[in-house]
Amino acid sequence: MSSNTYAQSAILLERAKKVLAGGVSSEFRKYNHPHAIFYTHGKGSRIYDVDENEYLDFTLSQGPLILGHSHPKVLNAVSEYSEKGQIFAGQHIKEIMLAELLNEIIPSAELMRFCLDGSEAVQTAFRVARAKTGRQKFLRFEGHYHGWMDNVCWGLSAPSEDALGSHENPEVYPWSQGLPDSSKDEFIILPWNDLDLFEKTVAERHKEIAAVITEPVMCNSGCILPEKGYLKGLRKICSQYGIALIFDEVITGFRLSLGGAQEYFGITPDLSVFAKAMGSGYPISAIAGKREWMSLIEDAKVIHAGTMNSSNPTVAAALATIEVLRSEKPYNRMFEYGNKLMDGLKNAAKKTGHDLLVQGPGPMFTIAFTKLGKVSNYRETLGFDKAKLSQFIAKMHDNNIRIIGRGLWYISAAHNEEDIQTAIKTAEKVLAEMSGGN
Ligand code: PLP
Repeated sequence: MSSNTYAQSAILLERAKKVLAGGVSSEFRKYNHPHAIFYTHGKGSRIYDVDENEYLDFTLSQGPLILGHSHPKVLNAVSEYSEKGQIFAGQHIKEIMLAELLNEIIPSAELMRFCLDGSEAVQTAFRVARAKTGRQKFLRFEGHYHGWMDNVCWGLSAPSEDALGSHENPEVYPWSQGLPDSSKDEFIILPWNDLDLFEKTVAERHKEIAAVITEPVMCNSGCILPEKGYLKGLRKICSQYGIALIFDEVITGFRLSLGGAQEYFGITPDLSVFAKAMGSGYPISAIAGKREWMSLIEDAKVIHAGTMNSSNPTVAAALATIEVLRSEKPYNRMFEYGNKLMDGLKNAAKKTGHDLLVQGPGPMFTIAFTKLGKVSNYRETLGFDKAKLSQFIAKMHDNNIRIIGRGLWYISAAHNEEDIQTAIKTAEKVLAEMSGGN
């Protein structure tokens, strides 16, 4: 029996559908429970909808809200700096301060440019890599998400593990209609976490490969850590063949540590991309990298531009967010709470007799209904019981806990011990109500 109702959201959704395609402005927002929901406000670890339901929020708006909703230092910084103007089509002081701060905390960030989101920063990284190497393709991995542009809108939607074919020569599926056929020729795709296969492929095809792009922790299809030595191996092989190693830190950046996954794992890529948590919900991203690569932008051999780049509110938001992260150092707490929640969910599943896989480093992790004890690549995730996960997510939502539909949980600096215990208790109640357990 649902405790929440969604009547006002349903009315607004019908109105929205008349003028917004599907009623939303991003595809993923359609897949809420029981349909797209309209929100009124958020504060700390909570978000509130038009039906006056209050949720304990583990979606963090798909990642950006690392400090929780409406952090006063972020909102004040945005408001104060916006008083001076919105955007100048010119430089301003906080832009340098932000770049200096990133240069200090992120190992690879010798030189950078700011843009609006992760998708366009990824494309900028590809352009730099092609220009410097004179090669055309990038190598990417199955199940890794790098935005929604044509050349990365593949490799995310296989119907089954069998449909992917062999590891050495994977089948690849478009995620959308309308992609140019040629976009499929821009990349080579491989399963992740198989260093031998990667080494063999690069040895054979390195003359075609400008860049290798990876999420350092694969967060978009399961939450999968790299096998021991895997990132180090990618680093070594890319250096050997003069290929750009790109870390897509759109999720891991400012989340695994202040210096991102590259600091956490001690592996420095040539180029990296940051977005999401960087701006606490304001549209700002960064393409950052070693000077020898980024100097192509400096010299205008590679063009990077954008009318809306580094506007006052976005830069102020990023600076405030990162300064709070640097001074308050919430990382130990985020790992501790994440791990506590993961253990609590595992225990709840055990008590209620469900096969639940709970996997990830802590500040983010995924859950899946499967008998597998661990997954290490996208292919293995394709056998998960998605219908059962949807049922769990829906019931959690009806009980005021909001989680991303594919089973991804984000911990913020605003979550506290009580939030974690509430989520565990609710999960146990929901699991006990679901069939297929004890
Ligand atoms: N890269 C990764 C790892 C992501 O998770 C995302 C978005 O979820 C992107 C790139 C694209 O970023 P954006 O949605 O800001 O364009």
